[in-house]
Amino acid sequence: MTEIPKSHPRYTSLMTRERIAEGVRNGITSVQGLIAQGRGEAFDYILGERTMISADRATLAAAAALLIAKRPAISVNGNVAALVPGEMVELASLLNAPLEVNLFHRSEERVRRIADLLRSHGARLVLGENPDCRIPGLEHSRALATRGGIYDADAVLIPLEDGDRCEALVGMGKTVIAVDLNPLSRTSMRASITIVDNITRAVPNLTRKISSLSGSTTEYLQAVLMDYSNRDTLRDALLEMREYITARMNELDGAQGSAGKRI
Ligand code: ATP
Ligand code: MG
Repeated sequence: MTEIPKSHPRYTSLMTRERIAEGVRNGITSVQGLIAQGRGEAFDYILGERTMISADRATLAAAAALLIAKRPAISVNGNVAALVPGEMVELASLLNAPLEVNLFHRSEERVRRIADLLRSHGARLVLGENPDCRIPGLEHSRALATRGGIYDADAVLIPLEDGDRCEALVGMGKTVIAVDLNPLSRTSMRASITIVDNITRAVPNLTRKISSLSGSTTEYLQAVLMDYSNRDTLRDALLEMREYITARMNELDGAQGSAGKRI
């Protein structure tokens, strides 16, 4: 990995980028995954690279949904494996849920590498290497799933998922929790709960919230869920992004004068 000095103002972002590049070099992440990361980074920039209030609320609802679920399952793709492998394993063990490798650009070799990586982080149950069923409504290898994993789950966590697959899972009647920095993506709009946050911040936050809610009654968890609206959350995310952009515009006026400097 390229050395990035800790003093660099964009250290965290650059290190994340390095981890994705390393994922490609190690056969974990697809080349297309680099582009997906870039799209995510662009949205992260205009929401201020922090967890928004709306995202924090969505994360609480996601924690409640995963705790209420009888059979939660967690999907892992090449970007997620490169960025937060240990954090995903910790989350799965807290929920006693399977991790299922689920790739848009599937290759058996990449599935195996990701499964091995998760096992090396201590994962107890990793599915996806031997798919035995198909998600209805999807074509080709994108439909592949495993009994006892996402296919049979009542709640699924799908970080960085494609819109089509998200929609197909919702169509199966599951509670679908997405993590996606783009509040306008089809995934964000179709999911039951969307956490508009970087996966690197969202997963530790979700784990904290699950731990803090784990002693709660089912009634309380249900009340948290009843209170949640994905439409309102996405609208609030867009409003928070607008506020952030407005603040940067005001800063620009402060630095350059409201009329703007002429060269
Ligand atoms: P959709 O199919 O839902 O309309 P899309 O085609 O724009 O979305 P995909 O390539 O299917 O996007 O999926 C990548 C998504 O993952 C993008 O919306 C991007 O914002 C998001 N993303 C990329 N990196 C991260 C990250 N580190 N954390 C959270 N989200 C991310
Ligand atoms: Mg897509």
